[in-house]
Amino acid sequence: MDRAGGGDGAAIGLDIGGTKISGGIVAADGTVVERVPAVRCPADDQAATLAVLTALIGELRGRHPGVAAIGVGAAGLVDWPEGRVRTAPNNAYRDLPLRRFLRETTGLPTVVDNDANTACWAEYRVGHRAAYMACVTVGTGVGGGLVLDDRLFRGRTGIGTEIGHMIVAPDGGERCGCGTVGCLEPLASGPALGRYGSAAAAREPHGALAALAGAGGRVTGEAVCAAARAGDRTALAQLERLGHWLGVGIATLVNLFDLELIAVGGGVAATGELLLAPVRASFERYVTAPEHRELPAIVPARLGADAGWIGAALLAHDTEGARTPPAARRE
Ligand SMILES: [Zn+2]
Repeated sequence: MDRAGGGDGAAIGLDIGGTKISGGIVAADGTVVERVPAVRCPADDQAATLAVLTALIGELRGRHPGVAAIGVGAAGLVDWPEGRVRTAPNNAYRDLPLRRFLRETTGLPTVVDNDANTACWAEYRVGHRAAYMACVTVGTGVGGGLVLDDRLFRGRTGIGTEIGHMIVAPDGGERCGCGTVGCLEPLASGPALGRYGSAAAAREPHGALAALAGAGGRVTGEAVCAAARAGDRTALAQLERLGHWLGVGIATLVNLFDLELIAVGGGVAATGELLLAPVRASFERYVTAPEHRELPAIVPARLGADAGWIGAALLAHDTEGARTPPAARRE
C-alpha cells in the first residue's frame, strides 16, 4: 500500500542542475503526487551528488513504496538510451554511467536523459501536445528539446538538439561557453540580457537601468526584466534585442523541421509578451516563405521550473522497456 496515497505505479522524477536537485513523484497521466523541496548538491563533487540522489530516492520510496520506475533529467551531454553523462558544464562528473548506477543501487527501471529533453517531454505530454514542437528555455543558458512525430528527437547518440549552440552570428557574435563564436546562447540567455542592460546603463547614467546597476555598473538579466515590466523603454529595448536573436534561432528550427508550436520557457520568458512579441516579429522576418506557410504558435511554456523532473518521470513511464525489471533485460 502506498501510505502517502497515489504513488502506486508512479515514477520518481529528478532534475539534476548545476547546483541543485529537484524532483518528486508523478503518475502516468502527469499528475504530480508529491513535490520535494530542491536539495543543494555540491557541483564539484560527483560522489556527493550521487549520495544526495540516492538519499532522495530512498526518502521518496520510503513514503511511496509502490513507485515503479525512476526518470532523471541531467544537465549536460547525455547518451540515450545508455544514460551516460558525457560531460556537464557546471558539474564535476565526466563519463558518468548514471542510469546503470541508479538501476544497480535501487533495483528500479531507470531512464536518464538531458534535462532540456525531459522538460520538452513534459511540455509535450501535459502541456501542449503538439506532434511537431520545440521547447526553448531561456535562462542561465539557452536550452531546448524537439518533438517530431510525437517522439523526442535526440539524434544518433542522444546529444542532439543543442539549440543554444546553433550558430547564428559567426562574424561578430559573442564567444560562447562552449568555446565557439556565434552561438545563440551568448546572444539570447539571461546573462546576455544582463550584458545588454549593463551597456545600456553605461550609455544612460541617469536611466532606470543605471539605478539598478550593482558593482562595476553591472546589471543582471533579472533587473532588466523587472525594469521592462515596470515599462522602462530602455529595458524593453534590451528584451527586444534578445527576442530578435531568439526569433532568428526559432526561424531556423522551423525552416528545418516545419514545427507547429514553439514553447518558450525559463526565467527570462516569465516576462511573457514583452519577450514573445519581439520573438514573433523577428521569427516572421527570418522564416522562409512566411506567406506560404501556417505560422507556428510561439507561446509560453506551461510547466515552469518543474518541467525537467516531471518530464523525466513521464519519460520513465513512456519508455518501452524502461519498466521491465533490469534482471530480465539483456544489454
Ligand atoms: Zn556554444
